[in-house]
Amino acid sequence: MRYLVGAVSRPQGRDRVFPAWTWIVGFWVGAAVGSFLNVVIYRLPRGLSINEPKHSFCPSCKHRLGLPDLIPLLSWAFLRGKCRHCKAKVSSRYFIVELINASIWAVIWYQIFVLKSDPLLPGHLSFGEAAAYGIAYALFASALVAAIFTDLAHYIIPDQVNAFMLFVGLGLNAALIWMGSPEAWLWGIPNSVAGALVGWGVLWGIAFLGRIAFRKDAMGHGDIKMARGIGAVLLPVMALMSFAVAVVLGAVFGVVTAIVRSRKAAKEPESEIMGEHYEPESIGSLLKCGLGYLLCIDVVGLLFTRLYESWFGENPYAVEEFEEEPVVELTMIPFGPYLAAGALVALLANDWLMGLWNAYATNVGLQKP
Ligand SMILES: [Zn+2]
Repeated sequence: MRYLVGAVSRPQGRDRVFPAWTWIVGFWVGAAVGSFLNVVIYRLPRGLSINEPKHSFCPSCKHRLGLPDLIPLLSWAFLRGKCRHCKAKVSSRYFIVELINASIWAVIWYQIFVLKSDPLLPGHLSFGEAAAYGIAYALFASALVAAIFTDLAHYIIPDQVNAFMLFVGLGLNAALIWMGSPEAWLWGIPNSVAGALVGWGVLWGIAFLGRIAFRKDAMGHGDIKMARGIGAVLLPVMALMSFAVAVVLGAVFGVVTAIVRSRKAAKEPESEIMGEHYEPESIGSLLKCGLGYLLCIDVVGLLFTRLYESWFGENPYAVEEFEEEPVVELTMIPFGPYLAAGALVALLANDWLMGLWNAYATNVGLQKP
């Protein structure tokens, strides 16, 4: 979004709609949504329903949580990360997710309602249209946060989260059409579909080429589905930029984690032997799944589970592969968290990214200064 990084110019005073201090509202709404994200991150990989049971409970003593346990950020801080009933440790992840989501929502609030910039879209937006963008981007960012933390903990990006991103991209344009914006028909929807195709194509292409060239599973299926959702919201150009950022992040942090892991492995050489029974996915399965993601059978199949089962050969809500602490293979570097983080960077700092790109393109002679 504009004006976040390297603030160039501020819009005129008449463009301001809300006073600057109202970012605090965005922050606390974001913290409350972050609290819900923690429910999503805990329950979806375990195959538990999001809305059943409706109340939250302590994972160790199952005690029903009340208002003093559920205030975002403050409860965790005042209870010092312990359950009020059984004193079991509550993961710092609860606090971190709420804080990250609150910060992102505050930034988006400030962009849309205080500066009233029109991110990713040229032209002047009405207040309603700007609000639609703000809500869509904030929800998309929250889905990315959920994807990062489920993938880090369990190597899973839930289908529901990936489907949600796709809905946000198309739903934003549906909302704009409903508000009477002709660009949404002629420009928004085609670009959103093109973005989804680009995201799917790039990641599935890497998976396919990697499988053929190296006889290895190069890309997780969750990553392919998430890239499709990222493309639907960020549109083709910014989606490609976000993938580039993901590769850079992956290269930097991947090297660091590989070093840490190989040191650990040197200490316990028996515990992690890799590659003995390694069998990569069959090319037929990769083709069939790829076609399924292109046709969004994994999205529609969340409602029609028999369709999902007949195409992918498993129930979308089955969790046989769930592991509380998955064994980390030495060469396995999950790409999902980098993919999601790259999309967050592209969403919040696209002016800065475009500036980098323009400088590079001018430098190598792709465009005139
Ligand atoms: Zn407890």
